[in-house]
Amino acid sequence: MTGHPATLAAKDKRFVWHPFTQMHDWLASEPLVIERAEGNYLIDTEGNRYLDGVSSLWVTVHGHRRPEIDAAIRAQLDRVAHTTLLGLASVPSIELAERLVDIAPRGLSKVFYSDSGSTAVEVALKMAYQYWLHRGQPQKRRFLALSEAYHGDTIGAVSVGGIDLFHQVFRPLLFDALRVPTPHWYRCHDAPDPISCRDLCLAALERALEQHAHEIAAFILEPLVQGAAGILTHPHGYLAQAAELCRKHDVLLICDEVATGFGRTGTMFACAQEDVTPDLLCLAKGMTGGYLPLAATLATDEVFATFLGKHGDKRTFFHGHTYTGNPLACAAAIASLDIFTKERVLEHLPEKINVLGAKLQEHVAPLPHVGQVRQRGLMVGIELVMDRSTKEPFPYESAIGAQVCLESRKHGVILRPLGHVVVLMPPLSIEPSEIHHLVTSVQASITHVTGT
Ligand SMILES: *Cc1c(COP(=O)(O)O)cnc(C)c1O
Repeated sequence: MTGHPATLAAKDKRFVWHPFTQMHDWLASEPLVIERAEGNYLIDTEGNRYLDGVSSLWVTVHGHRRPEIDAAIRAQLDRVAHTTLLGLASVPSIELAERLVDIAPRGLSKVFYSDSGSTAVEVALKMAYQYWLHRGQPQKRRFLALSEAYHGDTIGAVSVGGIDLFHQVFRPLLFDALRVPTPHWYRCHDAPDPISCRDLCLAALERALEQHAHEIAAFILEPLVQGAAGILTHPHGYLAQAAELCRKHDVLLICDEVATGFGRTGTMFACAQEDVTPDLLCLAKGMTGGYLPLAATLATDEVFATFLGKHGDKRTFFHGHTYTGNPLACAAAIASLDIFTKERVLEHLPEKINVLGAKLQEHVAPLPHVGQVRQRGLMVGIELVMDRSTKEPFPYESAIGAQVCLESRKHGVILRPLGHVVVLMPPLSIEPSEIHHLVTSVQASITHVTGT
């Protein structure tokens, strides 16, 4: 037994420091303690069931306790739980690498494993920097990033990130990245429509590249959707043209698909929608189906080849985490990819995406305090505003998003906001009836909290 629910909650408050959480508020709250799960539902210690509306922080893909993934992990446990990739190879890490290269944009041919989205990004940044060293251009050591980018919480990832609320306090510790504007229409004050916003942002990117390409190692971006910025969707064509500009100016392109990867935007990877092959691709969150921490940075032959040399040349990539390529995690990832194939998961997505979009338009978009509903695939951001006409936001102190998410628990839905943006990111396994429950619960919660 896990103990009495009240005792557990008390012990949580006594011993656990939660991430991205003001613990003063947490200690005054009644924590929900999750004990188990079934499919798309989480179940707490008192037996209450909740729809997992954000895929347990954007990771769950085919639902919880998928028999195939459970069995793959158990089978791997009967062989070995962990062996190292430093100096040794392992069966599941080899098989998974081949599978990833197979589904990744054509041209990405090498897989470097790590453990989290942040480390996948650190690896990409260091690879890009060292690539230019090897090419005899050590001055190319700066990075270009989008404003409001999010690439993780380690120091390098924060340096290329641009979310002030998260990153401001650490500013003195960071290296200095160059920034170009986020191509989201809400952020382009001078643009009459999304396409003009795209063109303005591409022009700004081109200017930055013209001025700085000689000192830039890489441009890093989240393709199609900036997740943690509040699900900021990019206009069609931005990614393809940005990739083209990078190539023209001899700057590497790093696509951070930690959030968008593994079907979340409707295709296996977001890059595929604009036929882009980045030089480096970062994967994590959904890679194991949401079971275990595992990440990968994929590289092209062109990048990889510059790291080859004699031992004494010191062209080695001196980076590696202890649990890199963990066999249990790799086994889970292979089983998750098998489900994609066997159940034709991607083929079933358009219908789910359309149902979600239609329900949002019907139930949520018309609400008086909803400023914008942004959707790409099964990634949704509902921006709450004080006033629809001026788009004036709710003050930070109101914690409006958090209030809505707390309210949604009463309707049996777990959500986690990004400031004043309510995020919906259900597992790809969500059924139409569950989509209805999700959207109408959010509608009721927004209506209740905003008193409309
Ligand atoms: C979540 C996220 C990360 C960081 O991943 P962690 O596993 O939390 O370190 C990096 N990039 C993007 C786009 C993300 O959404």
